[in-house]
Formats: sequence, C-alpha cells, structure tokens
Amino acid sequence: MSKLQKVDCDALVIGGGITGCFIALRLAQKGMKVCLADKGPLFREASGRSGGGVRQQFRNKAELPLAMESVRLWHDIARELGECIEYWQGGSLRLHRTKQLHEEDKIRVERERAQGLAVQLLTAQQVRARVPVLSAHIKLFGGTYCPLDGTANPLLMGRALTHALLRADVGVYSHEEIRTLETGGGRLSGAVGSMHFFRCPIAVNAAGPWASKIMQTIGFDFPVTFRKSQILVTEPLSPVIQEFISFDKGYLRQAKDGNFHLGVRGIPIVELETSQTMSSFEDVGRDFPEVFPFLANVQIIRAFAGITTWTADGIPILDEVPGVAGLWVASGFSGHGFCLGPVVGKLFSEWITTGCPSLDMSAFAWSRFGNVKRSSKLEQAVGVA
Ligand SMILES: Cc1cc2nc3c(=O)[nH]c(=O)nc-3n(C[C@H](O)[C@H](O)[C@H](O)COP(=O)(O)OP(=O)(O)OC[C@H]3O[C@@H](n4cnc5c(N)ncnc54)[C@H](O)[C@@H]3O)c2cc1C
Repeated sequence: MSKLQKVDCDALVIGGGITGCFIALRLAQKGMKVCLADKGPLFREASGRSGGGVRQQFRNKAELPLAMESVRLWHDIARELGECIEYWQGGSLRLHRTKQLHEEDKIRVERERAQGLAVQLLTAQQVRARVPVLSAHIKLFGGTYCPLDGTANPLLMGRALTHALLRADVGVYSHEEIRTLETGGGRLSGAVGSMHFFRCPIAVNAAGPWASKIMQTIGFDFPVTFRKSQILVTEPLSPVIQEFISFDKGYLRQAKDGNFHLGVRGIPIVELETSQTMSSFEDVGRDFPEVFPFLANVQIIRAFAGITTWTADGIPILDEVPGVAGLWVASGFSGHGFCLGPVVGKLFSEWITTGCPSLDMSAFAWSRFGNVKRSSKLEQAVGVA
C-alpha cells in the first residue's frame, strides 16, 4: 500500500457502468469531490453490451415506480449531455405464444395500470396489425404493449456520460481495479486500488457482478448469481419494426442505423467470462426466423456477450451496507439495469447527501435476504468495532 499514490475525495464510486457513472455524475453535481474507478475502460462490461431496452412494463411491483421515474429522466438526458444517444420511444411489445402467458399477463397489466403505467393487453390480431412481419404460421395468443418504452444506444450513452463526468470534474480513474476496502469503527475509511489509495468517507460499490468479489474482501457474502447473455447484430436493413420486441426465446430491436440486435436469454455461469458460444448462434438461427421469417437469410456482422447479476427476487440491492457506515452498494439488476441508471443516480445522490431518497427504497434493502453479517475473523482483520 505504501507505493500507492494517495487521493482524497468525498466519495469514491467503484465501477464505470451506467449505474456508477450516473451516481458519480449526480453526486458531483451536488458539490461533492467525486472519484470514479473502473478496472478497465468505462462502459466496457454489461452497460456497453446491453440490449439498450429502456422498458417499464414487465417489472416487479416495487421496481416499477423507479422505472417510470427513470423513463421521465431519459427524456432530458440527451439534451443535458449535449450528445446524441439514439434514445427514442418506439414502444415495447411482449408476445404471448401460449395461452397461459396471455392469462398471466392480463393480471400483470391490470396491476401495472393501477400503478399508473400506460400498458395495453393486445389480441393476436392487434399484435399482427402492429408487426406485420410476424410469421403467419406461429401460434399467437396476444401480447402486451407499452408505448412509452423505448431504446437507446449503449455505446453512445457511455461516450456521452464519460464526457459529462469530465465536465463535472469527476476524477475518472480507468484501469484502476479496487482490490479491497478499508473500514474501522463501523465506518468506511478508504479503498485500495491497483495504483491509488482513495481516502474517502463514502464509497459506492457499483461494480456489477464484481460487486460481490469486492464485498467478499471485507467478509460479506453478497447474495447474487450470474448469467451470460449474448447479442447478435445483423447487417443494416430498411426500417421494419420500431418496438423493442420480446418473446419466449429472446428479444430484438432495430437500431437507428438499421441493424437488428438479437438477444438470447442468459445462461447461468460461475466464472465471470464473456466468451461467445456456438450454441447461442444455433439457437438464434433456429428460434428467430421461426417468428420473424425475414431474418432467415440476413447476415450476422457482430456478436458479443455480457454478464448480468441476479438476485433471488429479480430486483437489485440498493442500500447502505449494514454495519459499515459510508459504504453503499448498487448491484443485482437482474438483467434490466440499463433503463434504471438515471433514476439510481438520482436516488443515490439524494440518499447520500440528505439521507432521504425521493422514492421508497425499502424493497431494495440487502437485509431482505436475511441477516447481513461479516465473518468474525475478517471483522478483526479489517478492524470493525
Ligand atoms: C447482453 C445484455 C443485454 C441487456 N439488455 C438490457 C436491456 O435491454 N435493458 C436493460 O435495462 N438492461 C439490459 N441489460 C442489463 C444491463 O446492461 C445491466 O443491468 C446494467 O448495465 C448494469 O450496469 P452496472 O453499471 O450496474 O454494471 P456494469 O455495466 O457491469 O458495470 C460494472 C463496472 O464495474 C467495473 N468493475 C468491476 N470490478 C471492479 C473493481 N474491482 N474495481 C473497479 N471497477 C470494477 C467493471 O469494469 C464495469 O465497468 C443487458 C445486459 C446484457 C449483458
């Protein structure tokens, strides 16, 4: 540690994905001296590899108010950042290929409408009228449609946010891996990076899947699991669909430049790695043309995979770490955290600076998974009272 250069700041944000970038930006805008450290370049992991869906429908009851507030914030982000992020509200459509799903979604739509979301249950005929390119041969029982859902370009968002962080005087430390945290007397006091030691009373662990590893270095078991999700990108085509469409085998959207992004459902993993598998290609080749026949002979020009972090109930852990004042965690977005970045940034900046986030955060407490405890051996090693 003696060789590490020391940096003093009011708050350190660990992780430069969409969550960490928005938290760092909003804290800096509230007058704090903020540093952000990422083990690589910003937006290189899930946030830059995301499907780009900015979706409100089909969310947990507790999470929906956050998604609705986030979409309100998405409206103004391009203007605020002063750069194009290709955000547009083309709607989201969820296809029902079984009667059971159609029946289940009737109840879900009722609940979401009661919560104030403009979402509609569609008949099969209405779905086909909206998306005429759907195969005439598949069984379809209907769908749900939310007109205010949309998409954005994750890579452009990463670039625009990086520029905004620099303008806001956030100290951006890329290629700086945070290796452990320093705590004492039940408080956070600093973070040990690969090149710097950050002396700070506040740190936010927004390291996506690696948030778990960071918590382990100070003796906490973080209750998450991991999945690898893959996206295949096609050659550009003339405009075909405007909605973000999901179905039982995956999802797709057509980007502004005409390319289709075809997403397959994530597979559980233990090692955090992003290699791509031939079987995903085979799955896409079989499943997508069955529903969207025009994709049968379209060329694939790019493919990539990213890691998502899952909790048992499918909503994130957004909390101050019990027993370590000043240490916060924002992870476990369960495959849909791209949409939530703006609202999480807003809420954490309110919570950290005033103690009062403007939305109820109780459903996201870590303790919902049981007592949050450190191993006593590690408690002694890191000097917790
Ligand atoms: C293929 C795919 C498609 C998706 N599609 C959608 C979608 O359509 N809509 C949606 O809402 N969500 C989607 N998601 C999920 C969404 O991308 C994630 O929930 C979201 O990006 C999580 O952002 P994050 O900033 O919390 O984590 P990440 O983006 O994973 O960022 C974490 C950052 O922490 C850094 N880091 C890790 N360890 C350390 C360390 N020790 N020190 C310093 N830095 C560290 C990493 O390098 C990384 O940059 C998708 C994800 C994938 C993979």
